[in-house]
Amino acid sequence: MSQGRALITGGAGFLGSHLADALLADGWNVVVVDNLLTGRRANLAHLRNEPRFEFVEKDICQPFDVGKIDYVFHFASPASPEDYHAHGIETLRVGSIGTFHALEVARKYSAKYLVSSTSECYGDPLEHPQKETYWGHVNPVGPRSVYDEAKRFTEAATVAYRRYHNVDVRIARIFNTYGPRMQIRDGRVVPTFVRQALLGEDLTVFGDGNQTRSFCYVSDEIDGFLRLANSDEHLPVNIGNPNEFTILECAQLVLKVTGSRSRIRNEPLPQDDPKQRRPDINKARQLLGWEPKIDLETGLRLSLEYFKKAVAEDTAAAR
Ligand code: UDP
Repeated sequence: MSQGRALITGGAGFLGSHLADALLADGWNVVVVDNLLTGRRANLAHLRNEPRFEFVEKDICQPFDVGKIDYVFHFASPASPEDYHAHGIETLRVGSIGTFHALEVARKYSAKYLVSSTSECYGDPLEHPQKETYWGHVNPVGPRSVYDEAKRFTEAATVAYRRYHNVDVRIARIFNTYGPRMQIRDGRVVPTFVRQALLGEDLTVFGDGNQTRSFCYVSDEIDGFLRLANSDEHLPVNIGNPNEFTILECAQLVLKVTGSRSRIRNEPLPQDDPKQRRPDINKARQLLGWEPKIDLETGLRLSLEYFKKAVAEDTAAAR
């Protein structure tokens, strides 16, 4: 039985495409709107013959209407530091203008709405671990501000649409997530280290590698989104894995899982790189009964086949 029709903006991206799979499995009809700036058709290629799936190539910074929608999942945005540095203005535009357009779809069709926000809202956090009630420590004019402030604006616009137009909204604050379909050249730490390890290149650890991140496997993250989507919570909820690693530990684990003999090389730390990051997930635990199940080593093993194939394709394409 159909659950209705869900729109995923940015559904050709890493998380959006996994969300499309999960919603289809859950009985939804799914329409993806994506301008393919950082998303890829290949992430949706397996859905080509799925009658309940549609892909529309469109920039959501232009007003758009793809017909009646019951649930809007607004996931469009460049998301890796390298991508949002390369596309700074587009990142600001999609977080602001694109967000208004996604919210307008929800308002027009009285659809429910869930937006992907980010732990970057906490900036380089002075509170650790980060609870949803922490307002953050963000440099509004630094190199990361195009993303951080766009997402903070996204959250502000989202709660405003609830306050002024009574749109039924949810906000997921996503912490570092990894898994199959990540691009191996988007600069993020897990795909970068795995690619380097598989190619026998040095693993580039920025700074002394003592900065921390907490990595969530994609299937856990998607499970969190679905539970949040079915809840009535309108304020932000952290969805991430609270197991914290230094970047050096992450590099060592990648070497272990890949069996690589690559070496570790230190490179300069980018400006405003957050020194620590770990979600407090008590709110998600209590409200959604959600708990990530897959630890980093297991998740890396689960991703390895994908990364091997992606590296082989990348190498063949470079020839
Ligand atoms: N990082 C690194 N080497 C790389 C890529 C990233 O040491 O080749 C570090 C980066 O400085 C940051 C962490 O890994 O401290 C996570 O970076 P990523 O780009 O994945 O995302 P972020 O969490 O910073 O948004």
